[in-house]
Amino acid sequence: MKIGVFALQGAFIEHEHMLLSLGAEVTEIRRLEHFSPDFDGIVLPGGESTVQGKLLREEGLMEPLRKAIEGGMPVLATCAGLILLAKQIEGGEKPHLATMNIAVRRNAYGRQLGSFHADVNLKGVGKFPAVFIRAPYVSRVGEGVDVLCEEAGKIVAVRQEKMLALAFHPELTGDARVHEYFLNIIKGEA
Ligand code: GLN
Repeated sequence: MKIGVFALQGAFIEHEHMLLSLGAEVTEIRRLEHFSPDFDGIVLPGGESTVQGKLLREEGLMEPLRKAIEGGMPVLATCAGLILLAKQIEGGEKPHLATMNIAVRRNAYGRQLGSFHADVNLKGVGKFPAVFIRAPYVSRVGEGVDVLCEEAGKIVAVRQEKMLALAFHPELTGDARVHEYFLNIIKGEA
């Protein structure tokens, strides 16, 4: 299984380690020539969504990536990646890929709760140790979106067809079940 991991900025190495531990092949995507519509799936890591969005545009990656996702390419998006996928960003910020029927609120937990840990219940996976870092949450979901997880009344994980998006960081936990779930989505087994 060939997975392209966006390595423009943010926490991508940890995703690579998880995927390699599950036997997937990983390619880092930094520039347009690294991107292939033949990947079995892609990962949009956490980091800073405004920076990532800017780099995607500068590298000419935004349109090919959007096309691939609209064409059904499976995506695992975490934190900033979730923001990149959202059709709407609260506060009037311009959306980025805008392929997922959700609205998100950035840095939604305020200063004191900038980062925290919570054991959440993730549909399709089970109880999971979630790490939140200046996380967004999903403020609204539209058609075709399945809510996979809520934490303290906020939606923090969603799925729409083969897009799996989480507000937290499953790659920082040493628990590979979310990545395993993603590989199962790719195989059509989840
Ligand atoms: N706060 C970041 C943003 O708004 C997301 C944080 C993260 O990816 N851990 O883009």
